[in-house]
Amino acid sequence: QRGPDADGAIRQTDTDAALARLSAVKKGYIEDPFITHLIPRAQFQPTRPPLINIGTYVRSKSIDTLVEQWLESCEQQNTVCQIVSLGAGSDTRFWRINTGPRSHVLKSYLELDFPDVVTRKAMAIRKSKELSAVLGSPESIVVASGGTALHSAKYHMLSCDLRHSPSSSLAPILDGLLSQSLPTLLLCECVLVYMAPESSSALVDWFVNYFSSAQDGSILGAIVYEMFGLQDTFGQVMLNNLQSRNVSLPGAAPYPTVESLPERFTRHGFTFTHALTLSERASQKTLVFRSDNRFVPPRMSHLELLDEVEELNLVLKHYAITWGAKTFMPVHKSSPWG
Ligand code: SAM
Repeated sequence: QRGPDADGAIRQTDTDAALARLSAVKKGYIEDPFITHLIPRAQFQPTRPPLINIGTYVRSKSIDTLVEQWLESCEQQNTVCQIVSLGAGSDTRFWRINTGPRSHVLKSYLELDFPDVVTRKAMAIRKSKELSAVLGSPESIVVASGGTALHSAKYHMLSCDLRHSPSSSLAPILDGLLSQSLPTLLLCECVLVYMAPESSSALVDWFVNYFSSAQDGSILGAIVYEMFGLQDTFGQVMLNNLQSRNVSLPGAAPYPTVESLPERFTRHGFTFTHALTLSERASQKTLVFRSDNRFVPPRMSHLELLDEVEELNLVLKHYAITWGAKTFMPVHKSSPWG
């Protein structure tokens, strides 16, 4: 049942994701100097069990690799690009890119989320020297619309309900912030799954139409990370667990298998699509290597003992990354990843 409480429970999933990231950072799985500034009393937050840390590591590395490849591809084609993150929550990706070697490739970065989440993040940015310094001089950072929006030279954060008609809710706020003729990457990390399939489809459709109207042609890339295949026994356990916290996943229903996931993009005419479970992605990229139940990420010096190896495998098999691109006329701009 949808309602204010259900939305509160969905917003709470961001706190869970941020705490999991903080824990993986504290345990040395991933590097992220920015996450502590987005979490109140970060130094006192307890770390999470090895299963969560390892899952967070695989998720984070897999998405990071695809985003890096996107930026590299834009750099090779001598173009700057834009990134739009839907349901961005406490994500620190903008800060990591903008302090990294390809910051010059990024023209604009836009995050969208519910007003409460945006307001909280805007306050954290204003309070933290480390976060605001990456956005530019203090005068260039503008908190607008009663705290529910923030603008700076490259980074923008806006409030909306992504389930509402995109043409009336998104068009007025995006015009002027995004260029319709630049390559644009849509990031949907654990967000579409909380929406009815009709709403997420309308959202992707709206972005496709928005960028297809550029006179000189452009390219829209998309990365979706989420749970799928929840009809089996373990999937039902995951669903019940979320349901007990008032969170439902209507967006997972149409995707029973990993093969069905690219349909999210092919139905909108994407020219390139691919989907892999986190388990496939992990073994393909040798992100996970086990001996005696120990998880050994590359270049990591300390190891956590994992008792629940089977459970880790089941979890990694129920999350997937789907990525794809749609190239609009003219075709001279080649697709990244393709
Ligand atoms: N993308 C971030 C990450 O992976 O760390 C946050 C993921 S969190 C699980 C889901 C986020 O999507 C939350 O911040 C939530 O508020 C946002 N969200 C879910 N449904 C939304 C909607 N209809 N409109 C705006 N934001 C939404």
